Amino acid sequence: MSRRKRKKLIFIIVILLTLSVICFTSVIYLNNRKDPNAFMNNNPSKDNPSSSDVDPVELSLRKETYFLERNLSRYLRYAKENPSKDMEEVVRCVNANIDSEFYTNVVDTNLDDGLLVLVNKYHKLASDYEPDLVKMDTKYSYDNKYMNAVAYEHLKDMIDAALLDGIKLYNISSYRSYQTQTDLYNRYVNKDGKEAADTYSARAGYSEHQTGLATDLNTADENKHFENSPEYAWLSKNAYKYGFIERYPKDKEYITGYIFEPWHYRYVGETVAKYIYDHQITFDEYYAYFIEK
Ligand SMILES: [Zn+2]
Repeated sequence: MSRRKRKKLIFIIVILLTLSVICFTSVIYLNNRKDPNAFMNNNPSKDNPSSSDVDPVELSLRKETYFLERNLSRYLRYAKENPSKDMEEVVRCVNANIDSEFYTNVVDTNLDDGLLVLVNKYHKLASDYEPDLVKMDTKYSYDNKYMNAVAYEHLKDMIDAALLDGIKLYNISSYRSYQTQTDLYNRYVNKDGKEAADTYSARAGYSEHQTGLATDLNTADENKHFENSPEYAWLSKNAYKYGFIERYPKDKEYITGYIFEPWHYRYVGETVAKYIYDHQITFDEYYAYFIEK
């Protein structure tokens, strides 16, 4: 190749390289102008909840602590049907299935959840379900009752600790069989009618007492006003330390489906009990967010 020809070739290469750099820079600049977040956010805009084409209700729902992607369409429907409810309440209610009538869309309790099984008005136990149980000592329980062994060990620790503080606690009702619950519920229906009975008594298969993980302490009578007793004050402050939660708290009736039951405690283990205590949520909500798949 002659010297002249070589010079010409180098000149052409330089021109071509310059043109490619200019083209590349322009494309980047134009793209960047279209979406100012393109360099800030690697998510495609369809996954980015802050995109301007997302419904503002959906945007506020997504900001809620316990937002669950799988419940989105139900949140939106429930929010539309209940315009007076704020987004926190919408998420709370839907996660606890309150967008369906009690005792509808019922599924079987997942027994693989072990000590964290959920039994409520949407999760039921089979009529022949009988957990492993141990007999309770009369030092801790009225009459000879039965309970899950792990829950019972922690209940004993709790009752012993309370006694050191001058508080006398004892179990009056722990495990109840399907048949016992049937009799109990029917008795209440005959006494107060079905609608009223449903607010304070579980239908058979829907009672947490059938798991052996629940205990009614000292009373189960609304008229005794256990909530005003020093025993309740002690439990409110200390039960979580022993892995127990107040299962049907005051002002959460619309979520649990039961009246305030200051005497009913459910064993869930110390870690879960502490979370529920610290965040003031119900077990139904905890289950939806942390356990249910
Ligand atoms: Zn109870």
